[in-house]
Amino acid sequence: MQNFAYRAPASTTDALRLGTGTGARYIAGGTDLLNLMKDGVQRHDLIIDLNRLPLHDITPTTTGVRLGALARMADVAAHPQVRRRLPLLAETLLAGASPQVRNAATIGGNLLQRTRCWYFRDASMPCNKREPGSGCAAQHGQNRWHAIIGGSAHCIAVHPSDLAVALTALDATVHTLGSGGARTIGIRDFYRLPGDTPQVETALRSGELITAVDVPSTGLTGRYLKVRDRATFEFAVVSVAALIRTGGGGVVREARLAFGGIAPVPWRSAEAERQLIGRRLDDAAIEAAGRALTLPAAPREHNAFKVPLVRRALATALGGLR
Ligand code: SF4
Repeated sequence: MQNFAYRAPASTTDALRLGTGTGARYIAGGTDLLNLMKDGVQRHDLIIDLNRLPLHDITPTTTGVRLGALARMADVAAHPQVRRRLPLLAETLLAGASPQVRNAATIGGNLLQRTRCWYFRDASMPCNKREPGSGCAAQHGQNRWHAIIGGSAHCIAVHPSDLAVALTALDATVHTLGSGGARTIGIRDFYRLPGDTPQVETALRSGELITAVDVPSTGLTGRYLKVRDRATFEFAVVSVAALIRTGGGGVVREARLAFGGIAPVPWRSAEAERQLIGRRLDDAAIEAAGRALTLPAAPREHNAFKVPLVRRALATALGGLR
């Protein structure tokens, strides 16, 4: 592990002032960053510990629940207002990570965790995300875990957060604070596709902090389905966050479908949602949604299995909502 300076500011003003320095990095739960630093994947001269900032609260709002950026995953999942008004969110958080990690990891940190691409996490391998211009070892390497939609010739890594998938289905809003002031960013504008700059993963500006996430209560019926290689602590091979509202005769009035494990960002599929609107949630409608979802898929050598897998996962999730 490299040497670095450590500061723990007590105010956001001080945190932002420290965060504008080159080589500075914020830390919250540390469940991802410390591993990256130990493995030599990331190097930082100054670590700014955010845990003294007043960003821990979980607060009911008129439209839903506001999650402080430093709220722990376990606390959010167990919060009575979250369980009552946002059951999909609680279900998703409990499907992510181990109990130990959920006790330490924060909402803001979860959204900013780095990809699990093994070439990214091996500092000896070429990786455009870790070292722009060095190449992408996954394009013709072992790409079983990689994207089938939304990748580029520069990067095909998938986003690892379960939480981000649920927040994408829920149309959450991310609140940030930087030297230019406060901003609100819709979750669907928060993440960036890799294009030719895979090192730029989010809309956050240099030194900017996540302060909170607003999650609206939709009243829709939902389910988070995570397919993983083993039932214990593991990242998703594919995942589905499905929210449905049906009207008279079981006809679908509203559908929101977001997916993990298939794209470099939490993937919302308007095409798949359209296939469900105005129809009963029968096998034909569900199959049409799956086809629409995977129409743009461009699998690589080792991950073509994700196309039928994500369609089956969608069918299972929606089947449970009938
Ligand atoms: Fe790096 Fe992305 Fe290629 Fe993985 S897929 S090696 S993260 S550039």
